[in-house]
Amino acid sequence: MRYNALQILKQGLTGNRNWDRAWRKPDPKPSYDIIIIGGGGHGLATAYYLAAVHGKTNVAVLEKGYFGGGNVGRNTTIVRANYGLPGNSEFYSHSLKLWEGLEQELNFNVMHSQRGVINLFHSDGQRDAAARRGNAMINQGDDAILLERGDCRQMLPYLDFDQTRFPIYGGLYHPRGGTARHDAVAWGYARGADQRGVDLIDNCEVTGIDIENGHVTGVQTTRGAIRAKKVGIVVAGNSSRVAAMAGMRLPIESHVLQAFVTEGLKPVIDHVVTYGMGHFYISQSDKGGLVFGGDLDFYPSYASRGNLPMMEHVMEAGMTLMPMLGKARLLRSWGGIVDMSPDGSPIIDRTDIRGLYLNCGWCYGGFKAVPGSGHSFAHLMATDRPHDAAARYKLNRFETGFGLMDEEGTGAQHNLH
Ligand SMILES: Cc1cc2nc3c(=O)[nH]c(=O)nc-3n(C[C@H](O)[C@H](O)[C@H](O)COP(=O)(O)OP(=O)(O)OC[C@H]3O[C@@H](n4cnc5c(N)ncnc54)[C@H](O)[C@@H]3O)c2cc1C
Repeated sequence: MRYNALQILKQGLTGNRNWDRAWRKPDPKPSYDIIIIGGGGHGLATAYYLAAVHGKTNVAVLEKGYFGGGNVGRNTTIVRANYGLPGNSEFYSHSLKLWEGLEQELNFNVMHSQRGVINLFHSDGQRDAAARRGNAMINQGDDAILLERGDCRQMLPYLDFDQTRFPIYGGLYHPRGGTARHDAVAWGYARGADQRGVDLIDNCEVTGIDIENGHVTGVQTTRGAIRAKKVGIVVAGNSSRVAAMAGMRLPIESHVLQAFVTEGLKPVIDHVVTYGMGHFYISQSDKGGLVFGGDLDFYPSYASRGNLPMMEHVMEAGMTLMPMLGKARLLRSWGGIVDMSPDGSPIIDRTDIRGLYLNCGWCYGGFKAVPGSGHSFAHLMATDRPHDAAARYKLNRFETGFGLMDEEGTGAQHNLH
């Protein structure tokens, strides 16, 4: 069923009882050409592009819970291409271009809203860094405008410009950045993959990876053994656990990142705003809630709920920037387990086990990467060659030290990325 205005009218007039299921609910087959472990944004996008671009349809996505229940449905929905370093710059640029055609491609409203992202800076040193980043973005073909304090005051009048501790010097404006509805992205890719013949199998946890003579042959799951010629691990915060099933030890730490939303308010924040002195980012959802987040919890954990001190820390950063926040009532908070890599950049690569591929290390920033990651991981799995846009995301950079992309310039210290 294609979604369009006529369909909405027709279904509306007949009581909305005749919509088709968005995707089938098949039982697992005994074998597939390709198995994707993990039904988050990256896994579903990979399956979609395997089918849509490479004609690979004997594919299954195995998800231990429900589709979209992981980080893809838990993030603060920021989509941007404002990375500075070679390797990341071209990858996120590629991803943003895919975002810009995504709703047409998937025939699904993912509510992609290019409302602009403004990263504030608070010192001359930060201004220099913002200018360098902006130049890198422009060289990459993306958009960046350096705002002075007066421009910020005009665009973001609700900020506290009079505070003396972290004065606002200006901001780096990325007009094509913005937000999207996170779980709709998972649903759109799921529906698109299913329509092309991919089996989406939920409540199916992978508990083992079968390897014979250095070659992957399938997986063990809570719904039985399934054979496969190729297997992709795309499980975000659970990457180390699943890779351990194949005897691998990854350079990944799992940490909880929390997010918060207030009660619905009238439109007040038109852009995505980030605060360069504390770690804080905020936007307003279409329902009116102020959606925001900050640092991750500083200890590794697999529990998807966060701690109160970090909540306080985020609120403090937010209130310093926007005292008006103190008047809003917090409605909900939640946590997701993010896969932190030592250089803050992802891994999209083959492993030493033939037929076994790895996609992880997205840190706080993998939502915006969903289209680019799915597209380039599908390319790698289908052709055994890295996609140009993701060619630097090698696993062995952590072994050799060559090719590290330390985007934040903070070194190999997980809790600072
Ligand atoms: C609070 C928060 C805010 C964030 N904000 C942003 C943001 O504003 N912008 C941005 O770009 N990024 C953001 N991120 C990061 C982004 O959400 C993640 O990097 C990205 O969603 C991770 O990829 P995914 O969607 O595939 O992960 P997930 O949705 O977590 O998918 C992985 C899936 O694997 C499944 N799985 C795990 N183990 C197994 C197994 N053994 N067998 C089968 N299935 C398994 C899990 O159940 C899960 O569904 C944020 C993350 C969090 C937590």
